[in-house]
Amino acid sequence: MAKYEVITIGGGPAGLTAGLYASRAGLRSLLVERGMFGGQMVNAALVENYPGFIEGISGLELGSLMHQQAVKYGLEVVTAEVTGLAQGHLYSVSTTEGSFEAAAIIIAAGSEYRKLWVIGEERLSGHGVSYCATCDGFLFRDWEVAVIGGGDTAITDALELSRHAKKVYVIHRRDQLRAGQVLQQQAFAQPKLEFIWSTVVEEILGEQLVKGLRLRNVKTHNFSTLEVAGVFVAVGLTPNSQCFSNTVKLDDAGYIITDETMATSALGIFAAGDIRKNSARQIAAAVGDGATAAMSAFKYLQERS
Ligand code: NAP
Repeated sequence: MAKYEVITIGGGPAGLTAGLYASRAGLRSLLVERGMFGGQMVNAALVENYPGFIEGISGLELGSLMHQQAVKYGLEVVTAEVTGLAQGHLYSVSTTEGSFEAAAIIIAAGSEYRKLWVIGEERLSGHGVSYCATCDGFLFRDWEVAVIGGGDTAITDALELSRHAKKVYVIHRRDQLRAGQVLQQQAFAQPKLEFIWSTVVEEILGEQLVKGLRLRNVKTHNFSTLEVAGVFVAVGLTPNSQCFSNTVKLDDAGYIITDETMATSALGIFAAGDIRKNSARQIAAAVGDGATAAMSAFKYLQERS
């Protein structure tokens, strides 16, 4: 079994930064990523709040640059899905491409889109149901669409969609948005947006393509139907921590609990980025987490030897 000093799980900004720092510290370092380098940010057409890029940069390009930089300094990468993490003399990471061992582990596996779990959602996913307005918004030019959720993502998505769609309904389960004030002001000033408050989706309608939504008002319990061609689900994120629940302590929502050094409840395992409790869920914050986690892993390995 291939042995490393550090294995980083996840190739988003937290994991790639951890990999860069670990490699530059001279540690034999492997990063396991199942998909594209960059994680969630590959869905962002333009990242405008990551320092150093005055005109912004696409998430895809930023992820690729971070990957290339880490590899330049000796980070090894493997494309595989992690299926388990077990503790022995060393930690063993099982993946779809075999198992790897290391004395220190950095978990930076991020999070993924939360689903509504209503009838029609899975069947019509990719056929009018989307979780990424920046990826799919242009498909709905001059159509009416709905965004589900009331957080920053929902409002950012609704504003993005208003550039393409004829009308954007924002359907929120409460009568107040969770999104920040600036976004709220922009949303309320955008005439293409219509808010449907205190309402949840019961079913996504349509055979081959989305035709509409069956809605329920949570205050009056009245049902209604809304005709839309697209539905953008923006109801938050779920941490990709299932594989690690037997190894490190999670909070009730499934996020990994760390201290300020990114150490988890298991000696030698660190967590960084969106997967950890209290993450700011920003690229810049994930990068900071990744650097801290790698430096803590380095210190741990020095003390261990
Ligand atoms: P979020 O802040 O957790 O908001 C999720 C929204 O979906 C909430 O309004 C929530 O309602 C609603 N919701 C949750 N489960 C639901 C369900 N089953 N059915 C219907 N509605 C449901 O998630 P997010 O908006 O994806 O943001 C995640 C993080 O990224 C946040 O920290 C956010 O600040 C950050 N972010 C920042 C920016 C930015 O700065 N521009 C952009 C995007 C995201 P309740 O309000 O009732 O809980």
